[in-house]
Amino acid sequence: LSLVLKRCSYVLTPVPGKGVRVLEDVDVGIDGGVIDCIGSCSGEHRIDCRGRAAIPALGNAHTHAAMVLLRGFDDDHELFDWLRNVNAAEKLLTRSDVYFGTVIACVEMAMGGVGAFQDMYFYPDAVVEAAERVGLRVCTGPIAGLQSVRDVASWIKDSRRRPLLKPLINAHSLYALEDDVLEEVFEVSRELGVDVHIHVSETRDEVAMSRKRFGYPPIEAMERRGWLSDRVIAVHLNWVTSWELEYMARRGARAVVCPSSGAKLAVGSFAPVYEMMGRGIAVGLGTDGACSANRINMLDEMRNFVLLYRHNYWDTRVKAEHAFVAATYGSYRAMGLRGGVIDVGYPADVAVLRLDHPCTFPPTRRRILSHIVYSANPFTCVEYTIVGGRIVWGPERREELTKLVEEAEARVRDFVQRCDELMELHTS
Ligand SMILES: [Zn+2]
Repeated sequence: LSLVLKRCSYVLTPVPGKGVRVLEDVDVGIDGGVIDCIGSCSGEHRIDCRGRAAIPALGNAHTHAAMVLLRGFDDDHELFDWLRNVNAAEKLLTRSDVYFGTVIACVEMAMGGVGAFQDMYFYPDAVVEAAERVGLRVCTGPIAGLQSVRDVASWIKDSRRRPLLKPLINAHSLYALEDDVLEEVFEVSRELGVDVHIHVSETRDEVAMSRKRFGYPPIEAMERRGWLSDRVIAVHLNWVTSWELEYMARRGARAVVCPSSGAKLAVGSFAPVYEMMGRGIAVGLGTDGACSANRINMLDEMRNFVLLYRHNYWDTRVKAEHAFVAATYGSYRAMGLRGGVIDVGYPADVAVLRLDHPCTFPPTRRRILSHIVYSANPFTCVEYTIVGGRIVWGPERREELTKLVEEAEARVRDFVQRCDELMELHTS
């Protein structure tokens, strides 16, 4: 089926290496899941995009999607105490909880303009099924350490034919895994040519632990052990050093930052994203789980990307265009997916934003990028999310997805209640 986004008031797209391009009053044509025309296009199905902006669908490059079940569960502890409480609750999770939790998260993400996400959680089969049910792309795999690395490898080999899935190895962190497991993780990654998605240098404590155990901060430890490569997706990097950025740039390792999550967990720093981008490191953006960040809202993350950098580094060098590039092209690149760009030949992952809400006033060409990064609200602005040419969010899917969420909410009620009882016990 071919689809035309007719007369978009604006089309915003990253131009790799050159910032953001804004086109005015053009059509975007989609055929066979790919963008095949920009300008004056024709096709069977048309969407009137006057008063609207088309942008690349956003990439949420780090989530624990089913953690929407733990949203608001424990908002006020520091990271290691928080992790302890979360781990206790997660012991109660069933596969069905993860499936329905991920469904709810996927609907929330689709409604917020997200086309692809990278996930680390239990029951990855359930995560993939939920993503497929809603229609989002997903990068995920089993968590090494919970399963043997050989089992992780066979899961990956068995999952290669699912069109919306890019399988990878999830490794929680250096601090959560023993040396022999880590060795095996990076060996299998090399053998199969698959990515390793891992939390790195999130907190100062973690860096201190790494110095004690390896003699070096985490990225340097990975470099010295021969683990750092272009298959590594390092998430957080709030406390990374300048020389570690050199190692990352040299090896082609990719970065994902989660500004809201880090600020809420009081990690006390933010990744040097300007310096990363300047070295050519792929920098993607993620929300992290809803238990730390509460909102899985990528428009928020763009805004916080700029705010936290400026707040931490006393410098206004990071601008709206950096955040926009990170949330689109940067996230897709960090996930190892082609996309995040509106141009002929790219996968048709596109979001359409309405510009008639007071929060995007005045919608002029000069200000449109600023509005999208700093003031747009996803649930009033995002009218369509399109993934591979298919409408996954839009007026025609509202009823279906509302019913799907209602069903999911009923199916997870037990788990939610048991978690609340657990915290009552803990705090009384
Ligand atoms: Zn995380």
